[in-house]
Amino acid sequence: MTSIGIIGSGFGAIAVVHELREAGHDDIRLWERADDIGGVWRDNSYPGAGCDVPSPLYCFSWAPNTHWSRRYALRDEILTYLHRVAAAEGVTDRVQLGREVVAAAWDDDTSSWTVTFADDSTQTVDVLVTAVGQLSRPQLPPVPGIEDFGGDWFHSAEWDHDVDLHGRRVACVGVGASAVQYVPHVTEQASQVTLFQRSANYLLPKPDGPFARWYRPLVTAERPLWWSLGERFSLGLESGTRTARVEQAVALRHLERQVSDPALRQALTPDYPIGCKRILFSNDFYPAVDQPHVSLVTDRVARVVEDGLVTQDGTHHPADVVVYGTGFETQDFLASIEITGRGGRKLATQWSDGAHAHLGVHAPGFPNLLISYGPNTNLGGGSIIYMLEAQARHMRDVLDRMRTGGYDAVEVTPEAEAQWDREVQHELESSAWAHCDSWYRHPSGRITSNWPGATHPYAKRVRDLEPADFAWT
Ligand code: NAP
Repeated sequence: MTSIGIIGSGFGAIAVVHELREAGHDDIRLWERADDIGGVWRDNSYPGAGCDVPSPLYCFSWAPNTHWSRRYALRDEILTYLHRVAAAEGVTDRVQLGREVVAAAWDDDTSSWTVTFADDSTQTVDVLVTAVGQLSRPQLPPVPGIEDFGGDWFHSAEWDHDVDLHGRRVACVGVGASAVQYVPHVTEQASQVTLFQRSANYLLPKPDGPFARWYRPLVTAERPLWWSLGERFSLGLESGTRTARVEQAVALRHLERQVSDPALRQALTPDYPIGCKRILFSNDFYPAVDQPHVSLVTDRVARVVEDGLVTQDGTHHPADVVVYGTGFETQDFLASIEITGRGGRKLATQWSDGAHAHLGVHAPGFPNLLISYGPNTNLGGGSIIYMLEAQARHMRDVLDRMRTGGYDAVEVTPEAEAQWDREVQHELESSAWAHCDSWYRHPSGRITSNWPGATHPYAKRVRDLEPADFAWT
């Protein structure tokens, strides 16, 4: 029986285990570097953490959740769901916790991957699946002095719950998807809050609210509606469309309604077309910023000193606590694992100008390596779980074909991968993401994170397995 090793234990990994077990695979093991499963939902415990994708859509199609308590679920509820599904799918039984994979090397003679862990031990599997997400490595800004700060400081993805913010001066660096969720909570506790914003965001109102108990079993009926709205929303991420204009008008009206001070409103108005950076959803961020004890600083942070931050104009901003909501290292896909393929080639070298993979899943030169949530499969709208499911089904199809054909190895051809990459990059040229810098783009300019357009065409492409695109050995 084919042995399969999966790196990670978040939603991507669970989707893969579900599909492969349905197909009759049983020799599956998972390696998780942390001491619990859960991926980003385990790591991100900041106050207010939740999902801005409606909960009826933010679950597996094959495991509908009739327990959601509200339309936009908070982190604890999502994590409870994830744990429940993981147990039911046999993930919990198969996962090896505290096992950080640092390297993986392909052996042509045995058609297998040898995986090396942080403690130098190794394991060998026939097929290696990476499911480490795109947002697993917190990023601090490259400003000097971070370590010299005399007060408390942490990244939003490593929230230090032992630090009491009550009555303290809190500096929040970065105003993105996470910050709009925790800033309202921080402003409730802190005596003074300074927000350091490099770029403003478009914020849309969130049609949130609790679900009545009697309604919860019916919540799944909302799924098709939210899915089609998500598809439409994603199409608005193509530049200049009518949907984009409507989204922009709604966002600017939301700002106007919630922020009375014209100067603050101006500072919170983005200077790029909508969709270029991730569109955010919040009903309480603007009111939180529009308070006397909160100030918004748009000058860049130049350095951190013992008792605060200094901006480029020389102003010193005193602080007792600094929270860095500065996102994740997104461009070095899989860089924390040294992956060596056929003939000693390194994945990091192959991707030095930005990651690219056929269907986001297969890299030429790396047989039997399947990537979940790989390059160009992230979304600007809709649910990533839909994409993870589509990839998992595709992986199942690939392994089915290997089994029925008696093949030991499968590898995408360089031609098929290059053709896919050309098509995706061509589509991306007319996307909103081409008009500004964001975590979706590699420094080379390539948009490496996102899939262009709606999710349905992607699911269709990965469903129609094209055997000629691969070498079957
Ligand atoms: P983010 O959205 O990438 O925001 C990072 C913030 O830090 C931005 O304001 C960014 O400014 C700023 N920043 C980054 N580097 C900086 C630097 N060197 N100096 C100053 N400012 C800097 O990060 P995040 O809030 O952690 O969210 C990351 C992703 O996680 C999201 O895009 C989303 O995909 C996911 N997420 C999802 C949800 C959800 O509800 N589904 C919630 C939270 C997070 P610029 O805008 O100028 O780059």
